[in-house]
Amino acid sequence: MIRLSFALLALAACCVEAREYRYSDAHLHYVDFFQETDGMAGLLKAMDANRIEHAMISGIPVAKTWHEDEPKRPRYYAGDDADAYWYSATDTLVAAALKKLPPTQRQRFHPFLSGFNPSDKNADALIRNMLELDPGLWQGIGEVFTRHDDLTALIHGDTPRANNEAMMRVYHLAAEFDLPVMLHSNITSKREKNPLYLEEIEEPLRNHPHVRFIWAHAGSSMELHRHQERLDFLLPTLERLLGDYPNLYVDLSWSVLDPYLLDERGRPDPQWLALVARYPERFMLGSDVVGRFDSLGELMRGFDPFLDALPEKVARRVARDNFLDVLPKKVQKAP
Ligand SMILES: [Zn+2]
Repeated sequence: MIRLSFALLALAACCVEAREYRYSDAHLHYVDFFQETDGMAGLLKAMDANRIEHAMISGIPVAKTWHEDEPKRPRYYAGDDADAYWYSATDTLVAAALKKLPPTQRQRFHPFLSGFNPSDKNADALIRNMLELDPGLWQGIGEVFTRHDDLTALIHGDTPRANNEAMMRVYHLAAEFDLPVMLHSNITSKREKNPLYLEEIEEPLRNHPHVRFIWAHAGSSMELHRHQERLDFLLPTLERLLGDYPNLYVDLSWSVLDPYLLDERGRPDPQWLALVARYPERFMLGSDVVGRFDSLGELMRGFDPFLDALPEKVARRVARDNFLDVLPKKVQKAP
Protein backbone atom coordinates (compact mmCIF):
# COMPACT_ATOMS: atom_id res chain seq x y z
CA MET A 1 0.00 0.00 0.00
CA ILE A 2 2.80 2.36 1.00
CA ARG A 3 4.61 1.34 -2.10
CA LEU A 4 1.53 2.04 -4.22
CA SER A 5 1.01 5.54 -2.82
CA PHE A 6 4.70 6.22 -3.36
CA ALA A 7 4.27 5.20 -6.97
CA LEU A 8 1.23 7.44 -7.28
CA LEU A 9 3.16 10.33 -5.79
CA ALA A 10 5.98 9.81 -8.24
CA LEU A 11 3.46 9.74 -11.07
CA ALA A 12 1.84 12.98 -9.84
CA ALA A 13 5.25 14.64 -9.56
CA CYS A 14 6.05 13.68 -13.12
CA CYS A 15 2.83 15.15 -14.44
CA VAL A 16 2.91 18.35 -12.42
CA GLU A 17 6.33 18.93 -13.92
CA ALA A 18 5.06 18.37 -17.47
CA ARG A 19 6.08 21.43 -19.38
CA GLU A 20 3.49 23.89 -20.59
CA TYR A 21 4.96 25.98 -23.33
CA ARG A 22 4.16 29.52 -24.28
CA TYR A 23 4.60 29.93 -28.02
CA SER A 24 5.48 32.45 -30.68
CA ASP A 25 4.24 31.47 -34.12
CA ALA A 26 7.06 32.61 -36.40
CA HIS A 27 5.27 31.82 -39.66
CA LEU A 28 1.61 32.72 -40.09
CA HIS A 29 -0.35 33.93 -43.11
CA TYR A 30 -3.41 36.02 -42.31
CA VAL A 31 -4.93 35.31 -45.74
CA ASP A 32 -4.95 32.41 -48.20
CA PHE A 33 -4.09 32.26 -51.91
CA PHE A 34 -7.39 34.01 -52.68
CA GLN A 35 -6.65 36.73 -50.11
CA GLU A 36 -9.48 35.48 -47.91
CA THR A 37 -9.33 34.96 -44.15
CA ASP A 38 -11.27 33.61 -41.17
CA GLY A 39 -10.56 36.99 -39.60
CA MET A 40 -8.89 38.42 -36.54
CA ALA A 41 -11.51 37.24 -34.01
CA GLY A 42 -10.92 33.60 -34.99
CA LEU A 43 -7.15 34.06 -34.96
CA LEU A 44 -7.12 35.62 -31.48
CA LYS A 45 -9.41 32.92 -30.14
CA ALA A 46 -7.06 30.20 -31.43
CA MET A 47 -4.01 32.00 -30.00
CA ASP A 48 -5.62 32.51 -26.57
CA ALA A 49 -6.80 28.91 -26.34
CA ASN A 50 -3.30 27.58 -27.00
CA ARG A 51 -0.91 29.94 -25.16
CA ILE A 52 0.32 31.41 -28.45
CA GLU A 53 1.39 34.77 -27.08
CA HIS A 54 3.01 36.24 -30.19
CA ALA A 55 2.72 35.72 -33.92
CA MET A 56 4.46 36.85 -37.04
CA ILE A 57 1.66 37.90 -39.38
CA SER A 58 1.97 38.26 -43.14
CA GLY A 59 -0.23 38.13 -46.19
CA ILE A 60 0.31 35.87 -49.19
CA PRO A 61 2.29 37.69 -51.89
CA VAL A 62 0.43 36.07 -54.79
CA ALA A 63 -3.21 35.66 -55.74
CA LYS A 64 -4.40 32.57 -57.60
CA THR A 65 -6.38 33.27 -60.78
CA TRP A 66 -9.83 31.76 -61.31
CA HIS A 67 -9.23 31.31 -65.01
CA GLU A 68 -12.00 31.44 -67.61
CA ASP A 69 -11.04 27.94 -68.80
CA GLU A 70 -11.42 26.33 -65.38
CA PRO A 71 -14.78 24.68 -64.69
CA LYS A 72 -14.71 25.20 -60.92
CA ARG A 73 -13.37 27.90 -58.64
CA PRO A 74 -10.03 26.49 -57.35
CA ARG A 75 -9.59 25.98 -53.59
CA TYR A 76 -5.78 26.04 -53.45
CA TYR A 77 -2.94 27.24 -55.68
CA ALA A 78 -2.30 23.69 -56.81
CA GLY A 79 -5.98 23.03 -57.51
CA ASP A 80 -5.74 23.58 -61.28
CA ASP A 81 -3.46 24.86 -64.07
CA ALA A 82 -4.28 28.56 -63.73
CA ASP A 83 -1.44 30.88 -62.75
CA ALA A 84 -0.93 33.16 -59.76
CA TYR A 85 0.21 36.78 -59.88
CA TRP A 86 2.02 39.12 -57.46
CA TYR A 87 -0.60 40.84 -55.34
CA SER A 88 0.50 43.84 -53.25
CA ALA A 89 -2.83 44.59 -51.58
CA THR A 90 -2.13 41.63 -49.31
CA ASP A 91 -0.12 44.01 -47.09
CA THR A 92 -3.02 46.45 -46.94
CA LEU A 93 -5.28 43.65 -45.66
CA VAL A 94 -2.81 42.78 -42.89
CA ALA A 95 -2.28 46.43 -41.90
CA ALA A 96 -6.02 47.15 -41.80
CA ALA A 97 -6.71 44.13 -39.56
CA LEU A 98 -3.99 45.20 -37.12
CA LYS A 99 -5.08 48.82 -36.98
CA LYS A 100 -8.51 47.79 -35.66
CA LEU A 101 -6.97 46.05 -32.64
CA PRO A 102 -6.55 47.60 -29.18
CA PRO A 103 -2.85 48.18 -28.31
CA THR A 104 -2.63 45.22 -25.89
CA GLN A 105 -3.62 42.80 -28.67
CA ARG A 106 -1.73 44.62 -31.39
CA GLN A 107 1.60 44.19 -29.63
CA ARG A 108 1.22 40.42 -29.91
CA PHE A 109 1.48 40.65 -33.72
CA HIS A 110 4.65 41.22 -35.68
CA PRO A 111 3.73 42.13 -39.26
CA PHE A 112 6.02 41.19 -42.14
CA LEU A 113 5.61 42.88 -45.51
CA SER A 114 5.45 40.47 -48.45
CA GLY A 115 3.45 41.92 -51.35
CA PHE A 116 6.12 42.58 -53.97
CA ASN A 117 7.58 40.85 -57.01
CA PRO A 118 11.03 39.52 -55.97
CA SER A 119 12.20 39.59 -59.61
CA ASP A 120 11.62 43.34 -59.97
CA LYS A 121 14.59 45.62 -59.28
CA ASN A 122 12.06 48.24 -58.21
CA ALA A 123 10.98 46.01 -55.31
CA ASP A 124 13.15 47.86 -52.76
CA ALA A 125 11.68 51.22 -53.82
CA LEU A 126 8.14 49.84 -53.55
CA ILE A 127 8.86 48.41 -50.10
CA ARG A 128 10.44 51.68 -48.95
CA ASN A 129 7.22 53.47 -49.97
CA MET A 130 5.19 51.12 -47.80
CA LEU A 131 7.57 51.47 -44.84
CA GLU A 132 7.33 55.24 -45.03
CA LEU A 133 3.57 55.19 -45.42
CA ASP A 134 3.16 53.48 -42.02
CA PRO A 135 6.26 54.30 -39.97
CA GLY A 136 7.06 51.64 -37.39
CA LEU A 137 4.32 49.25 -38.48
CA TRP A 138 6.32 46.59 -40.33
CA GLN A 139 8.75 44.45 -38.35
CA GLY A 140 10.09 42.22 -41.09
CA ILE A 141 10.03 41.32 -44.79
CA GLY A 142 8.53 38.05 -46.08
CA GLU A 143 7.61 35.33 -46.52
CA VAL A 144 9.34 35.95 -49.84
CA PHE A 145 8.43 33.20 -52.31
CA THR A 146 11.53 32.31 -54.33
CA ARG A 147 12.12 28.61 -55.22
CA HIS A 148 8.84 27.01 -54.18
CA ASP A 149 8.40 23.82 -56.28
CA ASP A 150 5.02 23.81 -58.06
CA LEU A 151 4.08 27.31 -56.99
CA THR A 152 7.16 28.74 -58.74
CA ALA A 153 6.00 27.23 -61.98
CA LEU A 154 2.55 28.78 -61.59
CA ILE A 155 3.64 32.33 -60.78
CA HIS A 156 3.29 34.66 -63.71
CA GLY A 157 6.66 35.97 -64.96
CA ASP A 158 10.28 35.06 -64.14
CA THR A 159 11.39 32.54 -61.54
CA PRO A 160 12.56 34.50 -58.50
CA ARG A 161 15.88 33.58 -56.92
CA ALA A 162 16.98 34.58 -53.41
CA ASN A 163 20.29 35.75 -54.92
CA ASN A 164 18.99 37.84 -57.81
CA GLU A 165 19.77 41.55 -58.19
CA ALA A 166 16.31 42.63 -57.07
CA MET A 167 16.59 40.73 -53.79
CA MET A 168 20.13 42.05 -53.18
CA ARG A 169 18.61 45.54 -53.20
CA VAL A 170 15.89 44.37 -50.81
CA TYR A 171 18.53 43.04 -48.38
CA HIS A 172 20.27 46.44 -48.31
CA LEU A 173 16.93 47.98 -47.42
CA ALA A 174 16.33 45.33 -44.75
CA ALA A 175 19.71 46.18 -43.17
CA GLU A 176 18.89 49.91 -43.29
CA PHE A 177 15.58 49.36 -41.43
CA ASP A 178 16.89 46.53 -39.21
CA LEU A 179 14.22 44.16 -40.56
CA PRO A 180 14.60 40.35 -40.57
CA VAL A 181 13.84 38.65 -43.90
CA MET A 182 11.93 35.38 -44.15
CA LEU A 183 12.78 33.47 -47.34
CA HIS A 184 11.06 30.47 -48.83
CA SER A 185 13.91 29.10 -50.92
CA ASN A 186 13.79 25.37 -51.57
CA ILE A 187 17.16 23.69 -51.24
CA THR A 188 16.49 21.53 -54.31
CA SER A 189 13.95 20.61 -56.98
CA LYS A 190 11.42 17.82 -56.75
CA ARG A 191 13.71 15.33 -58.51
CA GLU A 192 17.30 16.20 -57.63
CA LYS A 193 18.73 14.37 -54.62
CA ASN A 194 21.38 17.02 -54.02
CA PRO A 195 21.31 20.65 -52.81
CA LEU A 196 20.71 22.00 -56.33
CA TYR A 197 19.64 25.51 -55.26
CA LEU A 198 21.74 25.88 -52.10
CA GLU A 199 23.93 28.67 -53.52
CA GLU A 200 20.83 30.85 -54.01
CA ILE A 201 20.38 31.10 -50.23
CA GLU A 202 24.04 30.85 -49.28
CA GLU A 203 25.14 33.84 -51.35
CA PRO A 204 22.92 36.35 -49.51
CA LEU A 205 23.88 34.80 -46.15
CA ARG A 206 27.53 35.39 -47.03
CA ASN A 207 27.18 38.82 -48.66
CA HIS A 208 24.68 40.37 -46.22
CA PRO A 209 26.01 39.58 -42.76
CA HIS A 210 23.97 42.41 -41.23
CA VAL A 211 20.67 40.95 -42.35
CA ARG A 212 18.96 38.31 -40.17
CA PHE A 213 17.58 35.63 -42.48
CA ILE A 214 14.82 33.24 -41.45
CA TRP A 215 14.90 30.22 -43.76
CA ALA A 216 11.31 29.00 -44.07
CA HIS A 217 11.01 25.24 -43.44
CA ALA A 218 14.84 25.00 -43.58
CA GLY A 219 14.61 24.83 -47.38
CA SER A 220 12.28 21.82 -47.41
CA SER A 221 8.67 21.63 -48.57
CA MET A 222 5.81 19.17 -48.47
CA GLU A 223 5.94 18.86 -52.24
CA LEU A 224 9.64 17.87 -52.13
CA HIS A 225 8.73 15.14 -49.64
CA ARG A 226 6.02 13.81 -51.90
CA HIS A 227 8.69 13.11 -54.50
CA GLN A 228 11.68 12.27 -52.29
CA GLU A 229 11.44 11.06 -48.72
CA ARG A 230 13.90 12.61 -46.29
CA LEU A 231 16.62 14.69 -47.93
CA ASP A 232 19.67 13.11 -46.32
CA PHE A 233 21.87 16.12 -47.10
CA LEU A 234 19.58 18.59 -45.27
CA LEU A 235 20.89 18.15 -41.73
CA PRO A 236 24.64 18.24 -42.55
CA THR A 237 24.09 21.23 -44.84
CA LEU A 238 22.19 23.08 -42.13
CA GLU A 239 24.87 22.26 -39.59
CA ARG A 240 27.54 23.77 -41.82
CA LEU A 241 25.48 26.88 -42.64
CA LEU A 242 24.67 27.56 -38.97
CA GLY A 243 28.37 27.35 -38.17
CA ASP A 244 29.40 29.58 -41.06
CA TYR A 245 26.66 32.23 -40.89
CA PRO A 246 25.57 33.68 -37.53
CA ASN A 247 22.83 35.62 -39.39
CA LEU A 248 20.91 32.43 -40.30
CA TYR A 249 17.75 31.50 -38.37
CA VAL A 250 15.64 28.46 -39.11
CA ASP A 251 11.85 28.11 -39.18
CA LEU A 252 10.95 24.52 -38.27
CA SER A 253 7.37 24.63 -39.56
CA TRP A 254 5.48 21.61 -40.79
CA SER A 255 7.66 20.04 -43.54
CA VAL A 256 10.55 20.00 -41.02
CA LEU A 257 8.51 18.61 -38.13
CA ASP A 258 7.49 15.72 -40.34
CA PRO A 259 9.65 13.85 -41.42
CA TYR A 260 12.80 15.31 -39.79
CA LEU A 261 12.16 16.27 -36.15
CA LEU A 262 9.84 13.35 -35.41
CA ASP A 263 9.94 9.87 -36.91
CA GLU A 264 6.89 7.95 -38.16
CA ARG A 265 6.13 6.86 -34.58
CA GLY A 266 6.36 10.42 -33.27
CA ARG A 267 9.75 9.97 -31.58
CA PRO A 268 12.20 12.89 -31.66
CA ASP A 269 15.25 12.47 -33.90
CA PRO A 270 18.47 12.50 -31.82
CA GLN A 271 20.54 14.21 -34.52
CA TRP A 272 18.07 17.07 -34.91
CA LEU A 273 17.84 17.41 -31.13
CA ALA A 274 21.62 17.70 -30.97
CA LEU A 275 21.67 20.32 -33.73
CA VAL A 276 19.02 22.49 -32.05
CA ALA A 277 20.74 22.16 -28.66
CA ARG A 278 24.04 23.17 -30.25
CA TYR A 279 22.48 26.34 -31.70
CA PRO A 280 19.82 27.13 -29.06
CA GLU A 281 19.12 30.66 -30.32
CA ARG A 282 18.69 29.93 -34.00
CA PHE A 283 15.52 27.82 -34.33
CA MET A 284 11.88 28.85 -34.13
CA LEU A 285 8.45 27.27 -34.59
CA GLY A 286 5.79 28.15 -37.11
CA SER A 287 2.32 26.95 -38.06
CA ASP A 288 2.36 28.23 -41.68
CA VAL A 289 -1.45 28.43 -41.59
CA VAL A 290 -3.00 30.29 -44.51
CA GLY A 291 -6.09 32.28 -43.55
CA ARG A 292 -7.76 29.45 -41.53
CA PHE A 293 -6.99 29.20 -37.86
CA ASP A 294 -8.87 26.12 -36.56
CA SER A 295 -5.75 23.95 -36.66
CA LEU A 296 -3.37 26.57 -35.23
CA GLY A 297 -3.18 25.14 -31.70
CA GLU A 298 -2.81 21.57 -32.88
CA LEU A 299 0.02 22.53 -35.23
CA MET A 300 1.94 24.43 -32.56
CA ARG A 301 1.42 21.75 -29.90
CA GLY A 302 2.58 19.19 -32.46
CA PHE A 303 6.14 20.34 -31.68
CA ASP A 304 5.80 19.41 -27.98
CA PRO A 305 7.29 15.88 -28.20
CA PHE A 306 10.39 17.41 -29.81
CA LEU A 307 10.55 20.31 -27.34
CA ASP A 308 10.10 17.92 -24.38
CA ALA A 309 13.26 16.07 -25.42
CA LEU A 310 15.35 19.27 -25.40
CA PRO A 311 16.85 20.84 -22.27
CA GLU A 312 14.03 22.93 -20.79
CA LYS A 313 15.80 26.27 -21.24
CA VAL A 314 16.44 25.56 -24.91
CA ALA A 315 12.89 24.32 -25.46
CA ARG A 316 11.39 27.52 -24.08
CA ARG A 317 13.68 29.63 -26.26
CA VAL A 318 12.67 27.68 -29.37
CA ALA A 319 8.96 27.74 -28.46
CA ARG A 320 8.73 31.47 -27.85
CA ASP A 321 11.77 33.68 -27.35
CA ASN A 322 13.96 33.09 -30.39
CA PHE A 323 11.41 34.60 -32.75
CA LEU A 324 11.06 37.72 -30.59
CA ASP A 325 14.85 38.10 -30.45
CA VAL A 326 15.13 38.28 -34.23
CA LEU A 327 12.78 41.30 -34.49
CA PRO A 328 14.09 44.86 -34.92
CA LYS A 329 15.85 46.22 -31.83
CA LYS A 330 13.35 49.09 -31.69
CA VAL A 331 10.46 46.62 -31.25
CA GLN A 332 12.35 44.70 -28.56
CA LYS A 333 12.92 47.87 -26.54
CA ALA A 334 9.21 48.73 -26.61
CA PRO A 335 7.37 47.94 -23.33
ZN1 LIG B 1 4.33 30.13 -45.58
